[in-house]
Amino acid sequence: MVIDDILAHNQQFVQQKTLPIIGHAPRKRMAVVTCMDCRLVTMFEQALGLERGDVLELRTAGATISQPEREGAASDLIRSLAGGIYLLGVREVAVIGHTQCGLARANPTAMTASMQALGVDPDKLMRAEGMGDTQDLVNWLGAFNDVHVNVREVVNVIRNSPFLPKIPVHGLVIDIETGKLEMVDRG
Ligand SMILES: [Zn+2]
Repeated sequence: MVIDDILAHNQQFVQQKTLPIIGHAPRKRMAVVTCMDCRLVTMFEQALGLERGDVLELRTAGATISQPEREGAASDLIRSLAGGIYLLGVREVAVIGHTQCGLARANPTAMTASMQALGVDPDKLMRAEGMGDTQDLVNWLGAFNDVHVNVREVVNVIRNSPFLPKIPVHGLVIDIETGKLEMVDRG
């Protein structure tokens, strides 16, 4: 399994590297929300000029808050931002979606087929969760049609959350092929 490669690499890493001790409060006093896309690994920080200790990085599938969690802003992302703001000194937030996101136009048929292949019964799940159809399933996942629209919506959920103070919240989209940032909504 891949985890064995990771453990082997890690043994070498800790033997060869001594990391500087730095504080847990982000130097740039910023939290960055982005997607879990594997193509963002390392590239994201390089494209933004971010070093270890600079910012909080929060990742969700699609850099989004799913539809059912938007009302009342009751999501793990809001909880994490609250921790960053109240406990770690964050005073600025950037939500950064990306082009070619896997959650854009997610296909309900492909999703339910994959669930069935992996032994999860989508019909049983939908009944248990009170979902009307497979579109509710992809909504639960956080699927969206347009990355720019999604970024604006997530920015607004964060701006309007009663759990969070009024601080600048920006919305951007990063090109997954070039790393170019596009400002969508400046806070
Ligand atoms: Zn994505």
